Amino acid sequence: MKNAESHLIEARNLVKVFGKPPGPLNRAPQVHAVSNVSLAVRTGETFAIVGESGCGKSTLGRLLLRLLEPTSGEVFFEGRNISDIPQGALRTLRRDMQIVFQDPFASLNPRMTVGQIVAEPIRLHRVARGREVRDRVDDLLRTVGLRPDFADRYPHEFSGGQRQRIGIARALASGPKLVIGDEPVSALDVSIQAQVVNLLEELKEKLGLTLVIVAHDLAVVRHMSDRVAVMYLGETVEIADVDALYETPLHPYTQALLEAVPAVTPSTRRKRELLTSDVPSPTAPPSGCRFHTRCPHARPACSQSSPALETVQDGRQVACHFWRDIAAAGASPLASQLTQSPALTARLDLFRERQAARLGHAR
Ligand code: SF4
Repeated sequence: MKNAESHLIEARNLVKVFGKPPGPLNRAPQVHAVSNVSLAVRTGETFAIVGESGCGKSTLGRLLLRLLEPTSGEVFFEGRNISDIPQGALRTLRRDMQIVFQDPFASLNPRMTVGQIVAEPIRLHRVARGREVRDRVDDLLRTVGLRPDFADRYPHEFSGGQRQRIGIARALASGPKLVIGDEPVSALDVSIQAQVVNLLEELKEKLGLTLVIVAHDLAVVRHMSDRVAVMYLGETVEIADVDALYETPLHPYTQALLEAVPAVTPSTRRKRELLTSDVPSPTAPPSGCRFHTRCPHARPACSQSSPALETVQDGRQVACHFWRDIAAAGASPLASQLTQSPALTARLDLFRERQAARLGHAR
């Protein structure tokens, strides 16, 4: 479901710097986690934020939910500036904005039963009262493919995939409009990943959710996203519809990310050395274009001035001084390989069918 007109959540010039400015009593460097990021997520779409570890994507996800306070910049939810609303109003808003965490082992309180965990947001947001709470817990467990009698058990009694389903049930308990998945499947076995990815897709359609997926697994992102933002060292370097991004990546970093994915055939295993050099430290990001220390297309001007995120066509955006020259030289031949047959893709198809049958039965 795509809606080009309506934006559910929007970030404007978001900045997050961890740590205090260095001084006589403070020698710890500041970490520039998110730098001047602007993006808008359309109502009903799945929007992915991708990049290497430490690029700031998880921090950005938390800033969108106001789980972290930005150093500067603004967040708008349904057109309303939520950057400085008081805590009381923020609690009310949390009913509409939920998160599924990466680690299903750490994100569930081991001393609470599954029923208590899922019921907590129902009571907090007054979604139901009395006996209706248990009925809603049962419904939610069924919705995520778990048996209602699991409500009386504790998290340690479940597998990783089942725990992530419990985490999803908890996120859905308040009836949110927006769910942010922070690496929601990266801690799971590949076969379990497929089940959880398909569950999220089905729930999005069934419940009319908007999803923001923070991920580094490009096969998962390719499979479930409508649009993708690529982050490098705290900045967004490219935002595009998923097909355009994977078929004709414009930014050299996007091309490098796609080329770093294991190729399907030996003949396509080339250019893989592109991202083997270290990511610069976010405590001292390079001047100008932050990618210039690793970019094969870098020119002297790249270290002097920072490229702005430029809208190039159909809402597609890229931040590179020389993207036109690079595009004229040809896009990545390896990108299409990613869409063909990673093992995950076959499992995704199989489990999507099963999930659809299960959810159809639960309706
Ligand atoms: Fe590479 Fe220069 Fe473009 Fe940065 S601005 S991505 S260094 S070509």
